[in-house]
Amino acid sequence: MQVVHTIAALRQALQAADKPAFVPTMGNLHAGHYGLVALARRHATRVVASIFVNPTQFGPNEDFARYPRTPEADEAGLREAGCDLLFQPAVETLYPFGPEHCVRVRVPGLTDELDGAARPGHFDGVATVVLRLFNLVRPDCAVFGRKDYQQWRVIEYLVRDLSLGIAIIPAPIARDDDGLALSSRNRYLSAGERAVAPQLHRQLETVRASWRAGGDLARAEAGALDALQRAGFVPDYVQVRRGRDLRRPEPGERDGLVVLAAARLGTTRLIDNLELCADQGV
Ligand code: AMP
Repeated sequence: MQVVHTIAALRQALQAADKPAFVPTMGNLHAGHYGLVALARRHATRVVASIFVNPTQFGPNEDFARYPRTPEADEAGLREAGCDLLFQPAVETLYPFGPEHCVRVRVPGLTDELDGAARPGHFDGVATVVLRLFNLVRPDCAVFGRKDYQQWRVIEYLVRDLSLGIAIIPAPIARDDDGLALSSRNRYLSAGERAVAPQLHRQLETVRASWRAGGDLARAEAGALDALQRAGFVPDYVQVRRGRDLRRPEPGERDGLVVLAAARLGTTRLIDNLELCADQGV
């Protein structure tokens, strides 16, 4: 695996090769990220990954400064996972005028709700950095995890609206044995919080069980919110939405739905989701 830090070195490394499959990440990689690389391998002869903790997607009081950075372990893991090229740019490489003065893109509608409402500007930062990375890597396809369900849908919208011609491939959610979705932020959890954290997934399963039984979805959402509060979470939302556009389902609409949740446990913000049509817990 080749590792490059500059745009010139990236361009050189990409020359005369087939268009790659691309896996953008913020590093501190775990089995979920390596699963994305494995999926990318099935779609192209060449896999490019990036590691970049993107300042423009963090709010002023969020964890940009303390976000875990583990470059050596990430590099070794990517090598083993079969990545061909790693792009690890500095902030001034991706934002030559600085993050405050950069050209931004904004995906309307989809980004106003759920995590967009809880984290104003977050998805503008995500769309902005992903467009920059796409412009540099020029991939044939890119893999995004369903763990960040809203992000995946935002990127799909961006690609379609700007006719980028990049296939967006969603990857299943990788979980620990107790159901907790793998996340770089799980390492912020204390031992006590880690024991409680799988409740988030469990409550999504409860909503799904209620949906399967034909129950009232608003009541199921409220029940899950209440159970999370009693377990010690401070929930932002538990919401059943239409998967494709994240709008609220019409009364009686039952197909293609997803339940999404975000909740704080101590200082750690966790997100998770479950598709209501799937038999497996993806
Ligand atoms: P991040 O480094 O957290 O920004 O994530 C980079 C990519 O990995 C995104 O497409 C995420 O959705 C994906 N990802 C993170 N955690 C998981 C997981 N547990 N399962 C599947 N994909 C994941």
